[in-house]
Amino acid sequence: MSKPKVFLVGIDSAAPWQVFDLWLKELPTLKSLVEEGAWGRIRSTVPPITCPAWPSTFTGMNPGHFGLYDLRYRKLGKRYFDFHIVNSRLIKYERVWDYLSEAGYKVITAFVPVTYPPSKVNGCQIASFLTPTTKSEFTYPPELKNEIFSVIGGEEKYIIDVYGYRQMDPRELYQRLREKTDHDFKIIKHLLKKEWDLFVTVIMSIDRAQHTLWRFFDKDHPRYEEDPELKDGLLNLYKQIDDHLADIVSQLPEDTTIIVLSDHGAKRMFSRINVNELFIQEGLLKLNKKPKHPTGLDKLEEQELINWKETKAFALGAYIAQVFINLKGREPKGIVNPGEEYEDLRKQITDILKEVRGEDGRKLNTIVYMKEDVYCGEKIDVMPDLTAYFDNLHYGANEAIGYDSIYSLATLKGPDDSNHGEFGIFMMRNENVRKGEIKNIKLEDIAPTILDIFGVKPNIKFDGKSLLR
Ligand SMILES: [Zn+2]
Repeated sequence: MSKPKVFLVGIDSAAPWQVFDLWLKELPTLKSLVEEGAWGRIRSTVPPITCPAWPSTFTGMNPGHFGLYDLRYRKLGKRYFDFHIVNSRLIKYERVWDYLSEAGYKVITAFVPVTYPPSKVNGCQIASFLTPTTKSEFTYPPELKNEIFSVIGGEEKYIIDVYGYRQMDPRELYQRLREKTDHDFKIIKHLLKKEWDLFVTVIMSIDRAQHTLWRFFDKDHPRYEEDPELKDGLLNLYKQIDDHLADIVSQLPEDTTIIVLSDHGAKRMFSRINVNELFIQEGLLKLNKKPKHPTGLDKLEEQELINWKETKAFALGAYIAQVFINLKGREPKGIVNPGEEYEDLRKQITDILKEVRGEDGRKLNTIVYMKEDVYCGEKIDVMPDLTAYFDNLHYGANEAIGYDSIYSLATLKGPDDSNHGEFGIFMMRNENVRKGEIKNIKLEDIAPTILDIFGVKPNIKFDGKSLLR
C-alpha cells in the first residue's frame, strides 16, 4: 500500500445552501467531488464562529476543552471585560498536523485560523489572519517567510487579511478579495511543490464577502440591492476558488484524499438584538448612568457605569448572544449564588430571550442552549452560561449599550448582511468513505478521520469520530 496523502482546503463560511443548492452546477471542481465522494452538511461548534470552529476541527475536541467561544476572550481577574485576541498557545491540545509530525509524516499548513504564533512541525506552517504584521514571525521555519515574500514579489505585496471589510465600498472589497484569493493560491501552489503527506489550508475570502456582498445576490434579503456588477460577486469568488482547486486537484496523485469543508455557514441577517439593552429593560442589568452614545462594554466598565451589585447577567457577542450570569466565585463581583438561584435565573433568561419578537413584531424561532448541553471539557466553567441563536441565526446580537431600542443593524464595528450559520459544507473523496450524502457529522470528526487515514492512533479520547467505514 502506498503512503496516504491528504489535501484539505477550508472555505471559511461557505454555506450549504449556496454551494449545494444554488451554485453547484457552476462550480465544476466541487461538483465532481460531490459526485465522486461523500458530502453533506457538517455541524459547526456552538457558537459557529471561526474560533472555536477551526481549532475544534483540527483537534477533534469540543470547545469546552479550550474555553474559547470567539476570536476574543475575557481574561478573568479583577475586571469583567479584559478582552484579548485568541492565539494558538491557548489551544492546549495537539492538532492533527502535530500528531502526524510526531509519527514522521510531512505536513504543511497555510493560513489556518488560530495558528499564530506558528508551532514547530515536521514541515512548514504559515499563520493566518491573526498575524499582527509582516514583521511578526508568522512562519515555521522562520526562514520560510522570506521565501514566501519572494513568491509574491516582496514583503510589501504580502496580504495578511482584507481589513475593514464591513465598512469598505463593496466594489473595492470585491477586487481586494479577488486579489487576496489569487495571492493565497499562489503561495499554496508554491508550497505544494514541497514534500508533504498532509496539506491543510483555509481560504478566508468567502467569509469576508458574505458579510458585505450578500445583499446583491439574494432577492429575499431585506436590504437587497440591484447591481448588475455585484450581483454575481459572491458567486464569482466561489468560482475563483473552484478554478484554483481544479488546477491543484488535476496535479495531485489520483488516490490523494481530498477534503473540502467550511467551519460554519452563513445566513441572511435581518437585524440584531441589543441583548444588554433587553437585560436593562428586564431589570437584569443595572447602569449607574446611561451612556449618550452606543458604547462598548469595556469602556462602560472603565467609566464605572455598570452597577455590578445589582446586575444579574450580561451578554457578549455580535452574531450569537453569549450570556454570562454574574456568578459568585467566577465573576469579579458576582452576586448570583450557584445552585438553585443560578438555575432559576437561567430558566428566566431563556424565557425572556425566546419571547423577543422581531423588529416587525414577528415571532422569532430563537434557540437557547444551556452550557452543559453543548460543552464538555475542563474549561467549561468559563464558557457562556447560555448561548442564544436569535431567529435561528437570522437575527444577530449586539453587546454595546446606549441605544434607544433593543434593535440595531450595526454593531460598533459596522453593519452586516449576514450572520453565521450552524452548518458548514463537507465533501471528501477517499476510497474508504461511503459515497453520497452523509448526515450527523460534526467538525470534531475531521481530526479523527484524517488520523484514521494515516493509521495514527494517539492516546486521547476525541469528541469526534472517524468517518471512514
Ligand atoms: Zn469562519
